[in-house]
Amino acid sequence: MTVQKVMVVGAGQMGSGIAQVFAQSGFQVILNDIKQEFVERGLGVITKNLTRQVEKARMTEADKSAILARIVASTSLEDAKDIDLVIEAAVENMEVKTKIFSQLDQLAPEHAVLASNTSSLPITEIAAATKRPEQVIGMHFMNPVPVMKLVEIIRGLATTDEVYQTIEDITKKLQKVPVAVNDFPGFVSNRVLMPMINEAIYTLYEGVATKEAIDEVMKLGMNHPMGPLTLADFIGLDTCLYIMETLHEGFGDDKYRPCPLLRKYVKAGWLGKKTGRGFYTYES
Ligand code: NAD
Repeated sequence: MTVQKVMVVGAGQMGSGIAQVFAQSGFQVILNDIKQEFVERGLGVITKNLTRQVEKARMTEADKSAILARIVASTSLEDAKDIDLVIEAAVENMEVKTKIFSQLDQLAPEHAVLASNTSSLPITEIAAATKRPEQVIGMHFMNPVPVMKLVEIIRGLATTDEVYQTIEDITKKLQKVPVAVNDFPGFVSNRVLMPMINEAIYTLYEGVATKEAIDEVMKLGMNHPMGPLTLADFIGLDTCLYIMETLHEGFGDDKYRPCPLLRKYVKAGWLGKKTGRGFYTYES
């Protein structure tokens, strides 16, 4: 199957990065969000990233303009009428995602593949919201998308080999490395990463050490490039909480219970870097 035109649903941290890498690889991209201002914020992030590349002489001004010209803004899912592939990168919430997928199923052409960038939610359940579960797949990019090489590719129960192959080929075309994973809560990446982050939040909650000390121990002691609390701020504390809830509910095991401090921060609107405050504070 040939994929030329792609729609990215959700223009937040992940969606804007996904739109950027597709446009950089020559795909036509529609970047969709619920409000024009959200799409514009996403386009602003892409422009800033590309400008940085020009300043570092990694691309020319003409390359930058050509990449930006391949991205079209959208606030209506009806713009999916002539696309070949959708990557959904809206919030990590099953209700939101199933609604988007059932709408896309009605609006996208019959041949189109519907992929989700979900960090943890079951692909099989998302696929069940459509009449084309064999064409639904997980395409899990890492943050920040333009930098990180890995894409976890998750097969739902019904995903066909042909659809899997199409997504694997596209991942390589984006200069990324595909890794095949089966459909279990959190897949591999967040099943391993998120309980560690949650435990780091518990150590802060229980007063074992300061946030700086916890991050320093993991950086210098375990050779992690950034501490778990800094990483949580980068991921988004709302996303971290959604993932822990998915693991907790999906496995029915209390070892995955989200730390009350994580819940408190999310309730306060302290969602990390994207809102300017999480475990640390950030200038806008
Ligand atoms: P974000 O909060 O930065 O962006 C989410 C965007 O989705 C927002 O702009 C919001 O307006 C938009 N949105 C919400 N409902 C929508 C709808 N119905 N239609 C269109 N757009 C809608 O979140 P994010 O960090 O970009 O995460 C997005 C997805 O990517 C989540 O599923 C998350 O689990 C996954 N993910 C996140 C990371 C990470 O590190 N943040 C990494 C991998 C995957």
